[in-house]
Amino acid sequence: MNKIITILLLYIQIQSKIIIYLVIALTGKNFNPNPDKPINKQYHKLQIDSMPIIEALDKLDYKQLLIDYQLKNGKTLKPIKRRKQSNIPKSLTCPKCNAPHDYLYDNTGGRGQFQCKVCSCTFNYKNRFSKSAILRCPYCSKVLEKIKERKDYYIYKCKSDDCSFYLSNLKKMSKEEKSLFKEKPHKFKVRYIYRQFNFDFKPLSKDNEQLPTVDISRIHASQHTLGLILTYYVNYGLSSRRTTAIMEDIHQLKISHQTVLNYAEYVGTLVKPFIDNYPYELSDSFCADETYIKVNGKWQYIFFFFDAVKKIILSYHVSPNRDTLSAIKAIDDFLSKLKSIPKGLSFVVDGNPIYLLAQHFFAQHDINFDVTQVIGLTNDDPISTEHRPLKQIIERLNRTFKLSYKSTNGFKSSKGSIAFVNLFVAYFNFLRPHSSLEKSIPVVIPQLKDLPHMPARWIKLINLSQEYLIEQQSA
Ligand SMILES: [Zn+2]
Ligand SMILES: [Zn+2]
Repeated sequence: MNKIITILLLYIQIQSKIIIYLVIALTGKNFNPNPDKPINKQYHKLQIDSMPIIEALDKLDYKQLLIDYQLKNGKTLKPIKRRKQSNIPKSLTCPKCNAPHDYLYDNTGGRGQFQCKVCSCTFNYKNRFSKSAILRCPYCSKVLEKIKERKDYYIYKCKSDDCSFYLSNLKKMSKEEKSLFKEKPHKFKVRYIYRQFNFDFKPLSKDNEQLPTVDISRIHASQHTLGLILTYYVNYGLSSRRTTAIMEDIHQLKISHQTVLNYAEYVGTLVKPFIDNYPYELSDSFCADETYIKVNGKWQYIFFFFDAVKKIILSYHVSPNRDTLSAIKAIDDFLSKLKSIPKGLSFVVDGNPIYLLAQHFFAQHDINFDVTQVIGLTNDDPISTEHRPLKQIIERLNRTFKLSYKSTNGFKSSKGSIAFVNLFVAYFNFLRPHSSLEKSIPVVIPQLKDLPHMPARWIKLINLSQEYLIEQQSA
C-alpha cells in the first residue's frame, strides 16, 4: 500500500514538473506555482547568490614557525611585551599563520593595522580574510574581483563573460529587457555577486556575553517595596512618576521617580544573564520582528526573536541601527539559546535584506539555517493565510511591549532602555500569564509557582538571578 502511494506521489511530482516546463516553454515566462505568496517589492533589488568557492591559501603554522625559530636562534620567540593594555581583541589571530593575539603588534595605535611577530604578515580588519583565502565563482571557478567597499562588507563580482551564471541570466531576458540592458546595464543584476563581511564578530562565542557588575546594595528599599515598584513599573506599565505616586498614595512610601528608574536599571542589568542562560524547552517554530524604542530623543531598534509556540522571547537586542551587524547579533543571541543548531532550522522574518546578509554571514562560519521572509508580517501588506497567525502573534507581542513602554516617555540613556527591555523580557517569559497559553506563563520556574503575589515573584526572580551571577563569577 505504502509503495503504491509513494509511486503515485512521485508520479504527481513528475506531472507537475512537466506542467511547469510546458508553461515556461509556451509563454517564455517563469510560472510561479505559489501565486498568493507575497512578493517583496520594496527590497526586490537585493538578490543573494550562493556561496563562492573559498580557496584557502597555503597557511603557515605559527607553532611550527616558533619551533623553527628556536632551532635557528637557540632561544624562543617571546610574545609581545606591551607597555600599556592593548586594544587587540583576544579573538584576533594572524590570518597567515594563526598566531594568537599575544604575537600581534598594533601598528597604528588602535586604528586596526596589525603585524604578526611570528611571520611578519601585516594586515587589517578588512583585508585579513583576503590574506588567507581567495574567492572563486561557484559557476565558472574564476577568481572574483572586488568591486565595491561598503561599511560592513566588500562586494565581489565574477566578471567573466564565459560564466554560466551570467550567460543563463542573459538568456532569460525578454527582448525589451535585452535592449534596456544595453542602455542601462547597471539596472540589471546578471553577474554573480558575493558579499564579504568585515565584522570582528565571532558567532556563538561565550566571549560575546559579558557578566554585568551590579551593586545591588545600592537598593535601599525593602524587598517587598522593590517587588511592588517592579510590578507597577513593568507589569502594569506605569511611568516612573505614576509608580512614585501609587507608592505614596496607596502604600504611604515616599520614593522619588529617579529612584524607580535607578532600581529598574539595577534589576534589569542583574536579570539578563539569568534570562539568557535559562534552560528553555523550545518548539521548532521561531520568528523575528523589529520594534522601536526612544532613547535620548532618537529611535533605537529592538530585534525580538521568539518561539512562536511557547511564546518565549529569545533575543531582544537593542541597537541604534537597523543594519546587518545588529541582525547578526540578534540571531546570535537567538541561536545561543538553542542547545544545538538543528538540521533544517528555519525562522520567519520580515522582508528586510539584513536577515539574508546575516544568513550569509553565519553560513560563512558553517552555521546554517533558513530564513523565510514574509512581506507584510509587520505592516498592512496582504499576507498569505499560512503566515497570518504568525502576524497576529507578533502584533500581540508588540502591543504588550508598547503598553508597558508607552508610559516611560523614552529613556535618557541606552543603559536605561536596555535595562527596561531586559525587565520586559523577564516579565514576558517568567511572570506574565499568556492568553494563548490558557493563562499560563510561558516559562514556569518551579520556585516562583507557589508564591502568593507578584512582588514576591519579582524578588524570587532577583534572588535566582543573583545566585546565577555569583555562580558564574566564581566559576
Ligand atoms: Zn603570522
Ligand atoms: Zn562566474
